[in-house]
Amino acid sequence: MGENATNPNLIDTREAAGSCSHCRYLLPRLAECAPSYFDVGYVTCKHCSEKSDLWQAALSKAIALSPSGWALASLGAAQTSIVLPMESGKGYEVQLTDYGAPADAKILSTNYTGQTKNLTAIEWHGNSPQRRVQGTALRLLAVPFGEGPLPCEGRVAISVVWIRGNDSPAWPYLATAFEAAAARDYAPSLVFAQSAVEISMMPLIESRFRRHAPERRVRRFTNYSRALHVILPYLCGEAGLAKMPDIVRDALDRLRDKRNEIIHRGIHAAAISPQAAMEGLCAAAFGFEYMRHVEPSLSKGEPVSASGQ
Ligand SMILES: [Zn+2]
Repeated sequence: MGENATNPNLIDTREAAGSCSHCRYLLPRLAECAPSYFDVGYVTCKHCSEKSDLWQAALSKAIALSPSGWALASLGAAQTSIVLPMESGKGYEVQLTDYGAPADAKILSTNYTGQTKNLTAIEWHGNSPQRRVQGTALRLLAVPFGEGPLPCEGRVAISVVWIRGNDSPAWPYLATAFEAAAARDYAPSLVFAQSAVEISMMPLIESRFRRHAPERRVRRFTNYSRALHVILPYLCGEAGLAKMPDIVRDALDRLRDKRNEIIHRGIHAAAISPQAAMEGLCAAAFGFEYMRHVEPSLSKGEPVSASGQ
């Protein structure tokens, strides 16, 4: 089964880190506008030219849309909407790469809504269904609603939240955090979010220290809290780079505390509200983007001797 989905009535992909706080025009995607936010403290709206606080824009939208998967769209994910004509009883394969998603995209959540009240789509699967969508193709079956002659024809709105791939070693952790949040598994989501930040920060800082100190000494000295609050601000200050915004650093502190509660005290997953999860994920996404922004300057002079002594 499976016809290729052709002739969609509507295709729209949005990758917006929230909306302008003045005119609600969508901001560019997080990876695009975060550098400007880190450097000057705001993002300039392309529509009304006013300044927006990117952190507030991204977080407020994520909280407003939580717990749906759409909440993740302002934290670095993308949302693609497609409206397809369908006929009941027929199968359709929707390949996201045909609609602008890269081949390494990971699907986080899906929504199918019948627009003509006579049919909708369900995900089609083999005899051992995978609970998460693998790859970038959706295999759908159009099923009729209610009574009436069959087959019937109608339109189905398909909404997919997905995230781009990235070469950074920390990225798989952040993607897994997003995936878990989309499934409303907030405890593992925050554990992976914290790991993503640590993996994007600690190796860089340790490699800086190893330029002048033995590896075993560096490892004993360096910890995440020192890195976040002292070492990173120092290195960035010395290099003439903008420091991480206080609001992001404070949120990263809360994320670390939450992660420690989860893994050391066995905090019940239900104790984490969708809003707290969104703040943690927002902190991780901004922390990740900040490290990506400063990494080229801080790693100048690399590679260093890896002998470690
Ligand atoms: Zn605006």
